[in-house]
Amino acid sequence: MPIEDLPSLSETVKSHGLGANKKLGQHFLLDMNLTDKIARLADPLPGHNVAEIGPGPGGLTRALLLRGANKLVAIEMDERFIPALAEIGDQSGGRLEIAQGDALRYDIASNLSAPLKIVANLPYNVGTKMLINWITASPIFWTQLVLMFQLEVAQRVVAQPGESHYGRLAVLCQSVASCRLAFEIPARAFTPPPKVDSAVVVLDPLDIPFGDLKTLGRVTQSAFGQRRKMLRRSLKALAEQSNIELDGWLESCAVDPRARPETLPVSAFQALATALNPTR
Ligand code: SAM
Repeated sequence: MPIEDLPSLSETVKSHGLGANKKLGQHFLLDMNLTDKIARLADPLPGHNVAEIGPGPGGLTRALLLRGANKLVAIEMDERFIPALAEIGDQSGGRLEIAQGDALRYDIASNLSAPLKIVANLPYNVGTKMLINWITASPIFWTQLVLMFQLEVAQRVVAQPGESHYGRLAVLCQSVASCRLAFEIPARAFTPPPKVDSAVVVLDPLDIPFGDLKTLGRVTQSAFGQRRKMLRRSLKALAEQSNIELDGWLESCAVDPRARPETLPVSAFQALATALNPTR
Protein backbone atom coordinates (compact mmCIF):
# COMPACT_ATOMS: atom_id res chain seq x y z
CA MET A 1 0.00 0.00 0.00
CA PRO A 2 1.58 3.33 -0.95
CA ILE A 3 1.88 6.06 1.71
CA GLU A 4 -0.99 8.00 0.07
CA ASP A 5 -3.33 5.07 0.81
CA LEU A 6 -2.56 4.77 4.53
CA PRO A 7 -5.52 5.55 6.81
CA SER A 8 -5.99 9.31 7.39
CA LEU A 9 -4.04 10.88 10.26
CA SER A 10 -7.25 11.37 12.26
CA GLU A 11 -8.05 7.66 11.85
CA THR A 12 -4.48 6.77 12.86
CA VAL A 13 -4.73 8.90 16.02
CA LYS A 14 -8.07 7.29 16.83
CA SER A 15 -7.17 3.68 16.09
CA HIS A 16 -3.91 3.89 18.10
CA GLY A 17 -5.54 5.86 20.96
CA LEU A 18 -3.02 8.71 20.65
CA GLY A 19 -4.30 11.41 23.02
CA ALA A 20 -2.05 14.47 23.35
CA ASN A 21 0.37 14.70 26.27
CA LYS A 22 0.77 18.38 27.11
CA LYS A 23 4.01 17.84 29.02
CA LEU A 24 5.64 16.76 25.75
CA GLY A 25 4.28 19.78 23.86
CA GLN A 26 2.01 17.61 21.74
CA HIS A 27 -0.12 19.58 19.26
CA PHE A 28 -0.69 17.64 16.07
CA LEU A 29 -1.12 18.75 12.48
CA LEU A 30 -3.61 16.30 10.98
CA ASP A 31 -4.22 18.21 7.74
CA MET A 32 -1.98 16.77 5.03
CA ASN A 33 -2.31 19.98 2.98
CA LEU A 34 -0.54 21.82 5.78
CA THR A 35 2.11 19.19 6.39
CA ASP A 36 2.81 19.14 2.64
CA LYS A 37 3.09 22.95 2.64
CA ILE A 38 5.81 22.68 5.31
CA ALA A 39 7.61 19.81 3.56
CA ARG A 40 7.57 21.81 0.31
CA LEU A 41 9.73 24.47 1.97
CA ALA A 42 12.49 21.85 2.18
CA ASP A 43 12.39 21.09 -1.57
CA PRO A 44 14.29 19.54 -3.20
CA LEU A 45 14.25 16.44 -0.99
CA PRO A 46 15.39 13.67 -3.36
CA GLY A 47 19.09 13.13 -2.68
CA HIS A 48 18.79 14.73 0.77
CA ASN A 49 18.74 13.00 4.11
CA VAL A 50 16.34 14.41 6.67
CA ALA A 51 16.10 14.40 10.46
CA GLU A 52 12.60 15.04 11.78
CA ILE A 53 12.21 15.82 15.47
CA GLY A 54 8.98 14.80 17.19
CA PRO A 55 7.06 13.13 14.34
CA GLY A 56 4.10 12.31 16.62
CA PRO A 57 1.44 10.51 14.53
CA GLY A 58 3.52 11.18 11.41
CA GLY A 59 1.77 13.84 9.30
CA LEU A 60 4.97 15.69 8.41
CA THR A 61 6.79 12.35 8.18
CA ARG A 62 4.40 11.21 5.45
CA ALA A 63 4.76 14.50 3.59
CA LEU A 64 8.57 14.38 3.67
CA LEU A 65 8.59 10.82 2.34
CA LEU A 66 6.05 11.66 -0.37
CA ARG A 67 8.28 14.56 -1.46
CA GLY A 68 11.14 12.10 -1.96
CA ALA A 69 13.38 12.38 1.12
CA ASN A 70 16.28 10.00 0.67
CA LYS A 71 16.66 8.67 4.20
CA LEU A 72 14.48 10.09 6.98
CA VAL A 73 15.31 9.59 10.64
CA ALA A 74 12.32 10.46 12.82
CA ILE A 75 13.25 10.98 16.47
CA GLU A 76 10.30 10.67 18.83
CA MET A 77 10.41 10.67 22.61
CA ASP A 78 6.92 9.25 23.20
CA GLU A 79 6.90 5.50 22.57
CA ARG A 80 3.11 5.46 22.03
CA PHE A 81 3.70 6.79 18.51
CA ILE A 82 6.13 4.10 17.41
CA PRO A 83 3.53 1.59 16.05
CA ALA A 84 1.81 4.29 13.93
CA LEU A 85 5.20 5.45 12.63
CA ALA A 86 6.18 1.85 11.89
CA GLU A 87 3.14 1.58 9.60
CA ILE A 88 4.53 4.51 7.60
CA GLY A 89 7.98 2.91 7.69
CA ASP A 90 6.58 -0.29 6.17
CA GLN A 91 5.46 1.70 3.12
CA SER A 92 8.60 3.81 2.80
CA GLY A 93 10.79 1.40 0.86
CA GLY A 94 13.29 1.33 3.72
CA ARG A 95 13.70 5.11 3.76
CA LEU A 96 12.21 5.74 7.23
CA GLU A 97 14.22 4.98 10.35
CA ILE A 98 12.50 5.56 13.67
CA ALA A 99 14.62 6.52 16.66
CA GLN A 100 12.82 6.44 19.98
CA GLY A 101 14.27 8.81 22.57
CA ASP A 102 15.13 12.39 23.44
CA ALA A 103 16.23 14.33 20.36
CA LEU A 104 18.41 16.53 22.58
CA ARG A 105 20.59 13.48 23.13
CA TYR A 106 20.52 12.21 19.55
CA ASP A 107 23.65 12.87 17.50
CA ILE A 108 22.15 13.76 14.11
CA ALA A 109 25.50 14.57 12.49
CA SER A 110 26.89 11.11 13.25
CA ASN A 111 23.80 9.23 12.14
CA LEU A 112 22.95 10.95 8.86
CA SER A 113 25.31 11.92 6.08
CA ALA A 114 25.28 15.18 4.11
CA PRO A 115 23.42 16.75 2.44
CA LEU A 116 21.15 16.82 5.45
CA LYS A 117 18.10 18.88 6.37
CA ILE A 118 16.32 19.12 9.70
CA VAL A 119 12.56 19.55 9.40
CA ALA A 120 10.23 19.63 12.40
CA ASN A 121 7.13 20.83 14.11
CA LEU A 122 9.08 21.30 17.32
CA PRO A 123 7.83 20.75 20.84
CA TYR A 124 7.46 24.24 22.37
CA ASN A 125 9.27 23.42 25.58
CA VAL A 126 12.59 22.39 24.01
CA GLY A 127 12.44 23.89 20.50
CA THR A 128 14.62 26.94 21.18
CA LYS A 129 17.25 24.83 22.93
CA MET A 130 17.43 22.50 19.93
CA LEU A 131 17.75 25.44 17.53
CA ILE A 132 20.63 26.92 19.54
CA ASN A 133 22.39 23.53 19.55
CA TRP A 134 22.12 23.35 15.75
CA ILE A 135 23.26 26.89 15.02
CA THR A 136 26.21 26.70 17.41
CA ALA A 137 27.37 23.32 16.04
CA SER A 138 30.86 23.47 14.65
CA PRO A 139 31.06 22.86 11.79
CA ILE A 140 27.48 23.47 10.66
CA PHE A 141 26.42 19.98 9.56
CA TRP A 142 23.02 20.80 8.03
CA THR A 143 22.19 22.29 4.68
CA GLN A 144 18.79 23.65 5.77
CA LEU A 145 16.52 23.95 8.80
CA VAL A 146 12.75 24.11 8.29
CA LEU A 147 11.22 24.52 11.73
CA MET A 148 7.87 25.34 13.21
CA PHE A 149 7.85 27.32 16.44
CA GLN A 150 5.36 29.33 18.39
CA LEU A 151 5.01 32.61 16.49
CA GLU A 152 6.92 34.67 19.02
CA VAL A 153 10.02 32.46 18.76
CA ALA A 154 9.84 32.56 14.95
CA GLN A 155 9.69 36.37 15.13
CA ARG A 156 12.73 36.40 17.42
CA VAL A 157 14.73 34.38 14.86
CA VAL A 158 14.08 36.74 11.93
CA ALA A 159 13.84 40.10 13.75
CA GLN A 160 15.82 43.08 12.48
CA PRO A 161 17.50 45.82 14.56
CA GLY A 162 14.96 48.21 16.04
CA GLU A 163 12.17 45.62 16.09
CA SER A 164 10.75 44.55 19.42
CA HIS A 165 11.68 40.88 18.96
CA TYR A 166 15.29 41.65 18.02
CA GLY A 167 17.71 40.10 20.49
CA ARG A 168 20.19 37.36 21.19
CA LEU A 169 18.42 34.69 19.13
CA ALA A 170 18.29 36.90 16.01
CA VAL A 171 21.98 37.81 16.28
CA LEU A 172 23.09 34.20 16.75
CA CYS A 173 20.85 32.72 14.04
CA GLN A 174 21.57 35.46 11.50
CA SER A 175 25.31 35.05 12.10
CA VAL A 176 25.25 31.56 10.62
CA ALA A 177 22.22 31.51 8.33
CA SER A 178 19.90 33.58 6.24
CA CYS A 179 16.61 33.37 8.10
CA ARG A 180 13.09 33.90 6.86
CA LEU A 181 9.62 33.44 8.27
CA ALA A 182 7.81 31.44 5.58
CA PHE A 183 4.23 31.49 6.90
CA GLU A 184 2.12 31.55 10.03
CA ILE A 185 -0.25 28.80 11.12
CA PRO A 186 -3.16 29.68 13.42
CA ALA A 187 -3.56 27.80 16.69
CA ARG A 188 -6.87 26.32 15.51
CA ALA A 189 -5.05 24.28 12.83
CA PHE A 190 -3.63 21.99 15.54
CA THR A 191 -5.19 19.16 17.52
CA PRO A 192 -5.48 20.12 20.32
CA PRO A 193 -5.01 23.85 19.63
CA PRO A 194 -2.16 25.46 21.61
CA LYS A 195 -2.65 28.86 23.30
CA VAL A 196 -0.68 30.76 20.64
CA ASP A 197 -0.25 30.81 16.87
CA SER A 198 2.77 29.19 15.21
CA ALA A 199 5.04 29.99 12.28
CA VAL A 200 7.55 28.15 10.12
CA VAL A 201 11.05 29.54 9.71
CA VAL A 202 13.64 28.51 7.13
CA LEU A 203 17.37 28.83 7.83
CA ASP A 204 19.87 28.46 4.99
CA PRO A 205 23.53 28.46 6.05
CA LEU A 206 25.60 31.49 5.01
CA ASP A 207 28.54 30.80 2.69
CA ILE A 208 30.83 32.10 5.44
CA PRO A 209 29.18 31.72 8.84
CA PHE A 210 30.55 33.75 11.74
CA GLY A 211 33.14 31.52 13.40
CA ASP A 212 33.14 32.36 17.11
CA LEU A 213 29.59 31.77 18.30
CA LYS A 214 30.82 31.18 21.84
CA THR A 215 32.18 34.72 22.26
CA LEU A 216 29.24 36.13 20.30
CA GLY A 217 26.99 34.35 22.79
CA ARG A 218 28.79 36.00 25.71
CA VAL A 219 28.58 39.47 24.15
CA THR A 220 24.89 39.16 23.28
CA GLN A 221 24.06 37.67 26.66
CA SER A 222 25.64 40.66 28.44
CA ALA A 223 24.15 43.22 26.06
CA PHE A 224 20.60 41.89 25.88
CA GLY A 225 20.58 40.61 29.46
CA GLN A 226 20.13 44.27 30.40
CA ARG A 227 18.51 45.49 27.20
CA ARG A 228 17.26 48.80 28.63
CA LYS A 229 20.77 49.81 29.61
CA MET A 230 23.29 51.60 27.42
CA LEU A 231 26.06 49.33 26.18
CA ARG A 232 28.71 51.10 28.26
CA ARG A 233 26.81 49.85 31.33
CA SER A 234 25.73 46.40 30.18
CA LEU A 235 29.13 45.43 28.71
CA LYS A 236 31.20 46.79 31.60
CA ALA A 237 31.42 43.54 33.56
CA LEU A 238 32.30 41.51 30.45
CA ALA A 239 35.11 43.95 29.58
CA GLU A 240 36.47 43.70 33.13
CA GLN A 241 36.35 39.89 33.12
CA SER A 242 38.16 39.88 29.77
CA ASN A 243 40.82 42.40 30.86
CA ILE A 244 39.92 44.74 28.05
CA GLU A 245 39.42 48.50 28.30
CA LEU A 246 35.73 49.20 27.73
CA ASP A 247 35.86 52.55 25.88
CA GLY A 248 38.68 51.42 23.58
CA TRP A 249 36.84 48.16 22.83
CA LEU A 250 33.61 49.92 21.85
CA GLU A 251 35.44 52.61 19.89
CA SER A 252 37.51 50.08 17.92
CA CYS A 253 34.20 48.54 16.82
CA ALA A 254 32.59 51.92 16.01
CA VAL A 255 29.94 51.22 18.64
CA ASP A 256 28.38 54.22 20.41
CA PRO A 257 28.74 53.59 24.18
CA ARG A 258 25.34 55.22 24.71
CA ALA A 259 23.56 52.94 22.24
CA ARG A 260 21.12 50.30 23.42
CA PRO A 261 21.58 46.76 22.14
CA GLU A 262 18.39 46.57 20.09
CA THR A 263 19.69 49.30 17.74
CA LEU A 264 22.95 47.49 16.86
CA PRO A 265 23.22 45.49 13.61
CA VAL A 266 24.36 41.87 13.72
CA SER A 267 27.72 42.90 12.24
CA ALA A 268 28.42 45.19 15.23
CA PHE A 269 27.94 42.33 17.69
CA GLN A 270 30.27 40.21 15.55
CA ALA A 271 32.88 43.01 15.60
CA LEU A 272 32.62 43.21 19.40
CA ALA A 273 33.08 39.43 19.68
CA THR A 274 36.07 39.42 17.33
CA ALA A 275 37.75 42.27 19.22
CA LEU A 276 37.10 40.52 22.53
CA ASN A 277 38.63 37.25 21.34
CA PRO A 278 40.95 38.07 18.41
CA THR A 279 42.78 34.73 18.64
CA ARG A 280 39.85 32.88 17.06
N1 SAM B 1 5.21 16.44 14.14
C1 SAM B 1 3.91 16.16 14.74
C2 SAM B 1 2.84 16.98 14.06
O1 SAM B 1 3.20 17.99 13.42
O2 SAM B 1 1.66 16.64 14.15
C3 SAM B 1 3.92 16.40 16.26
C4 SAM B 1 4.42 17.74 16.70
S1 SAM B 1 4.24 18.03 18.43
C5 SAM B 1 4.26 19.81 18.42
C6 SAM B 1 5.86 17.73 19.09
C7 SAM B 1 6.30 16.25 19.12
O3 SAM B 1 7.62 16.20 19.69
C8 SAM B 1 5.46 15.32 19.96
O4 SAM B 1 5.20 14.15 19.23
C9 SAM B 1 6.33 15.00 21.19
O5 SAM B 1 6.08 13.71 21.74
C10 SAM B 1 7.72 15.11 20.61
N2 SAM B 1 8.77 15.45 21.57
C11 SAM B 1 8.69 16.27 22.64
N3 SAM B 1 9.89 16.40 23.23
C12 SAM B 1 10.76 15.64 22.50
C13 SAM B 1 12.15 15.36 22.59
N4 SAM B 1 12.90 15.90 23.55
N5 SAM B 1 12.71 14.54 21.68
C14 SAM B 1 11.95 13.99 20.68
N6 SAM B 1 10.63 14.22 20.54
C15 SAM B 1 10.04 15.04 21.44
